[in-house]
Amino acid sequence: MNHRLLRVRDYLRQNSLEGVIVAKPENRRYLSGFTGSAGMLLIGAEEARLITDFRYTEQAAQQAPNYTIIKHAPDIYDTLAAEIKALGWSKIGFESDFVNYDSYKRIAEIVAEPAPVQLDGLRMVKDDSELAAIRKAVEIADSAFQDILPLLKPGARERDIALEIEFAMRRRGAEKHGFETIVASGVRSALPHGRASDKLIEAGDFVTIDFGAVCDGYTSDATRTVVVGKASAKQKEIYRIVLDAQLAGVAAVAAGKLGKEVDAVARKIISDAGYGENFGHGLGHGLGLFIHENPRLSPVGDITLAPNMVVTVEPGIYLPGWGGVRIEDTVVVTPAGAAILTATSKELLELDW
Ligand code: ZN
Ligand code: ZN
Repeated sequence: MNHRLLRVRDYLRQNSLEGVIVAKPENRRYLSGFTGSAGMLLIGAEEARLITDFRYTEQAAQQAPNYTIIKHAPDIYDTLAAEIKALGWSKIGFESDFVNYDSYKRIAEIVAEPAPVQLDGLRMVKDDSELAAIRKAVEIADSAFQDILPLLKPGARERDIALEIEFAMRRRGAEKHGFETIVASGVRSALPHGRASDKLIEAGDFVTIDFGAVCDGYTSDATRTVVVGKASAKQKEIYRIVLDAQLAGVAAVAAGKLGKEVDAVARKIISDAGYGENFGHGLGHGLGLFIHENPRLSPVGDITLAPNMVVTVEPGIYLPGWGGVRIEDTVVVTPAGAAILTATSKELLELDW
């Protein structure tokens, strides 16, 4: 954790701040190791304090050895004010993308002009322990997908398939599922985020499943679209275009590229095939402690990719009233390209039952 603290201190120096209040759960965990659900960090050039409540003081002491643990008064802001006053700080940063208006007012009572800061960027490049957690999460999700393939048949309910894959991920060691599992069959596969419904799968349906496991706090993210039965010529054609776009997108990922440059490569393939209007979302996103993080691979993705960023590549084509396809892998940016973590085959699966 210490190298992460050093990076925050660099950030403070560059922004002429004496300290920063960290309250966003992902940043709190990233910078301290503390996994509890409540508390704030107070970080300065020499200081690292973790303010939390009675429930968590012992856990915090174990998980965050670089921090002085402080049990707060009934109102955490009273303790925060006392600590900042004792430190004599007046130039303090707060996470403007997280702190709500009521909390902002409390902070502004402590220091006159708290400075808006963005700390999420610190989490974009993953270190070895983070990559190991993501790899583990991806492996569990890959295995769970194989577990539930025999259940995909006519008459199966989307909601039940979602529950089965979540259960399979837990049984294989996931802490939980990373986000609401998507199972969308038949015409519902045209919904990019079609949460699993009571619809029964029918013969000939496309079934899109978007799922992720969480290990050590880190999320995996993958989507596969299969056909229950034999694929029609049109299903094969749409699938082929999305797969070509996905492969080209993965091949375009490399350190030094902008997110929008990678997006453009995959998007061109879908547009050239005449389906540009049917691919209405970005090509992919960063992921880690949170499911959707920077950098974005999208038409407005202006962050330059760097080694050990982890992103998804997930083009799709969605045809209202007919159905859709999305194919998504989790990949690690390398100096020369990308290493695909997701191991599940991307060849079109035609499932017998
Ligand atoms: Zn996904
Ligand atoms: Zn995704």
